[in-house]
Amino acid sequence: MNHELNSMTFIATEGIRLWHTAFDAINDAIAILDHEGRILKYNSSFGDLIAKNAEEIIGNFCHRLVHQTESFIENCPVTRARTSLQRETLEMKFLGKWFRVMAHPIFDKAGKVIGFVHVMSDISATKRAKEMLIERERDLSAVVDNLPGLVSRVDRDLRYRFASKGYERVFGFRPQDVIGRTMAEIIGPETFKQIEAYAHRALAGEQVTFESPIKKPTGEMEYGLVSFVPDAYADGTIQGFLILAMDITARKQAEEALRKQSEFLAVLLETIPRPIYYKDAAGKYMGCNKAFEEFVGRSRVEIIGKTVYALATPERADQLHQMDLELLAAPGKQTYERQVEGRSGELRHVIFNKATILHHDRIEGIIGVISDITARRRSEEEREKLREQLHQAQKIESIGRLAGGVAHDFNNKLGVIIGHAEIMQEVMGPADPLRPHLLEIIKSARRSAELTRQLLAFARKQTISPKVLDLNELISGMLSMLRRLIGEDIELAWHPGAGLWPVRMDPTQIDQILANLAVNARDAITGVGHLTIRTENRVVVDERRPHSEFVPGEYVLLSVSDTGCGMSAESLERLFEPFYTTKEVGKGTGLGLATVYGIVKQNDGFIHVQSQAGKGTVFSIYLPRVAVENPVRAVPATTAKPTGGSETILLVEDEDPILELSMTILTRYGYTVLAAKSPEEALAISESNQGPLHLLITDVILPQMNGRDLQELIKSRYPEIRTLFMSGYTADVIARHGVLDDGVDFLEKPFSIHALTAKVREVLEKSD
Ligand code: ADP
Ligand code: MG
Repeated sequence: MNHELNSMTFIATEGIRLWHTAFDAINDAIAILDHEGRILKYNSSFGDLIAKNAEEIIGNFCHRLVHQTESFIENCPVTRARTSLQRETLEMKFLGKWFRVMAHPIFDKAGKVIGFVHVMSDISATKRAKEMLIERERDLSAVVDNLPGLVSRVDRDLRYRFASKGYERVFGFRPQDVIGRTMAEIIGPETFKQIEAYAHRALAGEQVTFESPIKKPTGEMEYGLVSFVPDAYADGTIQGFLILAMDITARKQAEEALRKQSEFLAVLLETIPRPIYYKDAAGKYMGCNKAFEEFVGRSRVEIIGKTVYALATPERADQLHQMDLELLAAPGKQTYERQVEGRSGELRHVIFNKATILHHDRIEGIIGVISDITARRRSEEEREKLREQLHQAQKIESIGRLAGGVAHDFNNKLGVIIGHAEIMQEVMGPADPLRPHLLEIIKSARRSAELTRQLLAFARKQTISPKVLDLNELISGMLSMLRRLIGEDIELAWHPGAGLWPVRMDPTQIDQILANLAVNARDAITGVGHLTIRTENRVVVDERRPHSEFVPGEYVLLSVSDTGCGMSAESLERLFEPFYTTKEVGKGTGLGLATVYGIVKQNDGFIHVQSQAGKGTVFSIYLPRVAVENPVRAVPATTAKPTGGSETILLVEDEDPILELSMTILTRYGYTVLAAKSPEEALAISESNQGPLHLLITDVILPQMNGRDLQELIKSRYPEIRTLFMSGYTADVIARHGVLDDGVDFLEKPFSIHALTAKVREVLEKSD
């Protein structure tokens, strides 16, 4: 009470002065107006604001000073308050600042308006803050609404409090329709199920980010990268979370496409049978395919991260590394042909196709594809060798034909020379001074005949009578003859193979082969040495043939080796050529191996020679196995004394000298000889002949008709007649490829008196 009294006293005494002070201290510009709006009183803020002196202000209409323009009077709060009789406000710009202008009516006790309080408050700062806020909000929503993704906020019930425009694009709901609804309602129960757990984690305060497929109402799938960011109060309580979702469909699709493409590439890489690798620019392997693993014989883990130095020998690695350096210096593609070690150290011929991998002009590494052309190279070489061999074979073949032709004619002439000389020898007394000369003629002619015989053998024109033979037995029987041939300084070793298969051959040909090889061995050995003869069974398989022309099959291998001087590569290539010899004139004829070659070929066999200068020589002769009966025992040719007879012989020969010679010999030996120069003549003689005919001796090749056909015709008249064929070389009429038909009697030209008379007796006395 006391205190109140004191206050009252204070107001009463100090009131007016205090009021004035407060009035002036107020920041707002205040004026007191009469009931018509004239200024009665104003404070210093008002004075400062209007910036006029008291005479101009007092009694002036307030709106005139404040609004300045008449048009605003309408709007003036004083004008409005006069009619509304209550406080009116207006926000207006004055002198560049914003003011809130308020007019408050003052009433007298009777409630009549006697004036107004006019207050102008500077609200520029507030106004600016508000504008800025609005502007920020506009910016924010511009950002949020134009984000490619979705932005929203949900409360603890997962009800939307805010949603960006994106919701309309994705879910078809306008933001205002989203707000207030639950997540399950907006994104659909299916999608919601997938993200429910994340929502609970966000409500527990964890920020979560995950990828989620979003099924749009249109059925389209969209991939979202979604973040839930907890929305917490300052005290840490969580009121919900922000949802930020980005459409990553394009990225997902690109990733998927990339995944597919890299899967495709990976499969492709593994499927390509060529070794492929890639390295970084420093030369470290970054990857490779299976073929590369196999090529280098290492597994991927052993390769990746290593350089070529871990895979190849240092020198080889240097070379290979050099290739990379070259390529890095001039990026692009490059092809190199190199030899590298394969997985087991063997040399492989390869082509490297290399290319630099560039990324924005920077070299990332090198990719390499290897083509192994070893096999191709080998087959090229093989082909070249084959061509060479074929060429050689053709050469020998044509020489053979030539030699065969010459030998045939020569043979006939020799036959005549030898025949007549032998007749002279028989007639001539033992003391005749011409006798030694005649013997020389016969000796030379016989040696020449031996030469032509070899030529014919080479040309495969030798007429043979093959028999099924046991080579071991046959060769055993020849050993003493061979020992005589090679002399005492050379030791002959004989290794017959066990259970040797039989072969079908003319035994005299084995004789020819071994004699020739033995003589050659003897000539190759100076001083002492060894000659070894072996036999064994041999199966030749396709991929392991000693020589390309070999036909796979079962063979009996006859090998003859010596410890002689061996031979040069040139000799090795040419040794089967007739007349090829390295021996001095008079020593060698160059026909030995040609003969051997011809014989082997004639019997469908193969021959293979291995030799090196100074290292001796091995001749391997493969004779085809014959799948038959017991081999026959080879009977040595009879050397019975020639005897004559008194039978009648029909002799047919178109060459006069031979006809004459044969007639002379046979007549001398007591036979009755009817000579014919042609088949025609022979048939005529056989027609007119009254007595018996015991033997037909005929040349095989005759004009008009061959010997065999002639024999048939004559046989129809003389069924008992026997036939002896003569020929200089094999003719298919009686022998296919030189192989005599069974039961055919044959005399090889040129023949000696002995050969002729002995054969005639043999045929006449044959007991068939
Ligand atoms: P020739 O013996 O008359 O010279 P061949 O046809 O028998 O004729 O042999 C031809 C050549 O092959 C011989 O001159 C010799 O150079 C070579 N030759 C044959 N056999 C052997 C061997 N066993 N050792 C070394 N060289 C040989
Ligand atoms: Mg020889």
